[in-house]
Amino acid sequence: MEVYKFGGASVKDAEAVRNLLNVLQAQKQLPNVVVVSAMDKSTNALEKVVACYFNDRKTVSSSFQEIRKFHSNILLDLFDNDQHPVFKSVNGFFDEVLRFLDSNKSTNYNFVYDQVVGYGELVSTTIISHFLTENGLNNQWLDARNLIKTNNTYRTASLQLSKTQRHITQAVKPNQLYITQGFIGSDSNNFSTTLGREGSDYSAAIFGYCINASAVTVWKDVPGILNADPKLFDQTLLIPEMSYNEAIEQAYYGATVIHPKTLQPLYQKEIPLFVRSFNDAVAPGTCIRKNKFMPSTICCYMLLKHQIFITLSTLDLSYIVEKQFKKIAALLQSHQMKIRLTQNSAISMSICFSDPFGHKEAMLHELRAKYDVSIVDDVNLFTVLNPQTDQPDFIAQGTEILVKQITDKRLQFVTRN
Ligand code: ASP
Ligand code: MG
Repeated sequence: MEVYKFGGASVKDAEAVRNLLNVLQAQKQLPNVVVVSAMDKSTNALEKVVACYFNDRKTVSSSFQEIRKFHSNILLDLFDNDQHPVFKSVNGFFDEVLRFLDSNKSTNYNFVYDQVVGYGELVSTTIISHFLTENGLNNQWLDARNLIKTNNTYRTASLQLSKTQRHITQAVKPNQLYITQGFIGSDSNNFSTTLGREGSDYSAAIFGYCINASAVTVWKDVPGILNADPKLFDQTLLIPEMSYNEAIEQAYYGATVIHPKTLQPLYQKEIPLFVRSFNDAVAPGTCIRKNKFMPSTICCYMLLKHQIFITLSTLDLSYIVEKQFKKIAALLQSHQMKIRLTQNSAISMSICFSDPFGHKEAMLHELRAKYDVSIVDDVNLFTVLNPQTDQPDFIAQGTEILVKQITDKRLQFVTRN
């Protein structure tokens, strides 16, 4: 059994949906589960609807209208007959969103967000499922909210594995093609939850884990995993194979090809992850699997922008040791900061992290009660994996280096522009 995942770019318009059909038809064997994201930037568009709902309610209907229009253009392109049942299903979903917003009483932004934003996936998979059926690929549409069970930490929900396993085992049978959504799940009250932006890869990995897939393939607009982001570097290399550990490090330090959480479930069951190009349905791409290391001659360059760099020192010259580490880490965690690098000395500790939820001020307020805090906003974290012995510092050129750390496996700089 295999799982495929198609992201937003691979279903960005009607042409792309036709291409998805071609990709499936070009394979010797069809996968069992196809996980699909929302079309193009519709998740951003739905996020905007939620923002309008909270900040400027009268603009909800116009921003929502754009989303309907975008999908209805795709539908009209893909289906000759506007009486086709797909139109009714898609409209039904959109009406559901409006009904929810109309009757909602909750002021919890994250809760409302999760009830709305996942409709991008519900709609895209409905369109694709019908389109494949229309073109001779029989399939069954599954509502991932009935399968992926999570806690109720809206917007970054955590998976509840055993319940999810049970539901997926019941729903997914061999020799059948299923189309389902990435990114979404539901909590114990059956309210919708989401797994974090770009979370569809993770969903595919969860399905792969639960059905004991022989492989999971994510189809992308790049030929596979490259050693650097081609938007930032002129010359890039395709990495034909790499280990889970290498891929996890790469994702953690800024490579955006696969969502960082994706690899953990696959690693546990040693399920290989293929990253392939939807523009070349037969090219092998990259394979991530156990004990296959990337050639030591390939070094990988990663960049995380918009990080925050703080240096803390104690107010009374006492050492920053174990007890303080624990307190500092707990404080950052309570504000959902994502720590990427730390450096410490006897009486100071420097931390490079991102603030995905905009909690910096609140966190600083708490930190300043206990430490002397200096802060540099908007720094870059450069990471080189497999650095060469004479690794040039060119990636940090033209910037001010705030920290440089080096081991035989990794070279990192925190820089200020
Ligand atoms: N549609 C969601 C997003 O854009 C999930 C995904 O694409 O993986 O974040
Ligand atoms: Mg997306």
